[in-house]
Amino acid sequence: MERTLAIIKPDAVERGLAGKILDRIEDNRLKIVALKMLHLSKGEAEGFYKVHSERPFFSSLTKYMSTSPVIVAVLNGEDAIKKWRDLMGATNPKDAAAGTIRKEFAIDIEKNSVHGSDSHESASFEIQYFFSNIEIF
Ligand code: ATP
Ligand code: MG
Repeated sequence: MERTLAIIKPDAVERGLAGKILDRIEDNRLKIVALKMLHLSKGEAEGFYKVHSERPFFSSLTKYMSTSPVIVAVLNGEDAIKKWRDLMGATNPKDAAAGTIRKEFAIDIEKNSVHGSDSHESASFEIQYFFSNIEIF
């Protein structure tokens, strides 16, 4: 079993897509073991995305991620990191495969509805960024 961090981003929470996205998680044998809604400050978004601090989109990305609340969750399951990334689809919804969350729901490459950890290392950093041990079941 493996854990990964999922975020339902502001564009999806604002459009009332959280339930549909959580359904897809549970329908694909990923178990929600922690869940909460947060309104990130710009600084908290910058800390979360610090690996991208040198990228040209960093300022816009962290501003967008702090515009309105997000839902953060820890998912547990077999091959959870890859499984959740596969359900999400490619970063740019134009490149995302049919049936993926980003293909169906994302607005553009930035407002792409969901986040998923991309490695064991990022999953452990990202999970502890939002949750303490006693909040994960
Ligand atoms: P995430 O980390 O959010 O799961 P990802 O791993 O598919 O997405 P990254 O390369 O890690 O993509 O980029 C992080 C986020 O930054 C993207 O999800 C998107 O919101 C934003 N982003 C990435 N590339 C661009 C870009 N070229 N222009 C604008 N925003 C971008
Ligand atoms: Mg990423």
